[in-house]
Amino acid sequence: MFCNIKFLTKYFIFLLLLLSQFIGFSPYLSEVIDDELLGRRVNKNAKWIGNKRVSPSIPILIMAGHADAQNIQGEGTRGEAVSLKGSQPMDSMMTDELFWNLKITDAVVKIGQKEGLDISSYDPGIRSILDENDPKTNWSVGSKYSEKGFYVLEIHFDSYGKHGLGSGLIPPITKNLNNIDEALAQSFGRYPLFFRGGLGAARRQIRILEIGKLEGELEKNLRNIQTREMTISLIAYRIVNSIKSGINKDLSVNPMLQEGDIFLLGSYQ
Ligand SMILES: [Zn+2]
Repeated sequence: MFCNIKFLTKYFIFLLLLLSQFIGFSPYLSEVIDDELLGRRVNKNAKWIGNKRVSPSIPILIMAGHADAQNIQGEGTRGEAVSLKGSQPMDSMMTDELFWNLKITDAVVKIGQKEGLDISSYDPGIRSILDENDPKTNWSVGSKYSEKGFYVLEIHFDSYGKHGLGSGLIPPITKNLNNIDEALAQSFGRYPLFFRGGLGAARRQIRILEIGKLEGELEKNLRNIQTREMTISLIAYRIVNSIKSGINKDLSVNPMLQEGDIFLLGSYQ
């Protein structure tokens, strides 16, 4: 009997330990939010809410990330297919990330204009600009347009495997996070404020949209000629529809102030 109790106690403790592993790991497990189209979403416990109204006629500038940084530091990810699976790059002149960033940017402009948005894109054309403050870089142009009142968005794909975190909007450093930021974060995921200490783009009021990690199904669907156009189109529509719902403020969840939510001074109306 004594032995049995001892055994049962041990068994109970073992079960408790097992359970605690799951509880302890639950935030890790919930990181795997599978989005059928985009794969994993970022899970960084970001608490901001974008709630500033934007003008219904807000002009939008969209750019392809790394368009000015090929063959130098900051050229973007080559993706899982090229880096790990021995596939050929989509274009030998650029990383696969830039190749897809350009495709998505073009599709968003085309669909956005059709849907009535005042949207245009900027491409520096020169693929390697060493000085980030050169007036032709994405960051220089983006920062200038942002000051003029444009909503400036740079398209990216995140790295594969352990090098990347997943899809989501990296907000700019501002006290004016707005309804478009909120709508994009609801559709794609939400990176924290001051992510990596405030990236260069964020400091220049440029929003970064990580579409997803360049790996797995998402990358396969982009590379496969049968599914490519559909995949690009679905992503572009998701971006355009988010921008539209931000402008029209018909967000799926009405943002409410909750305990622990982070607001920069003045970002709650
Ligand atoms: Zn990137």
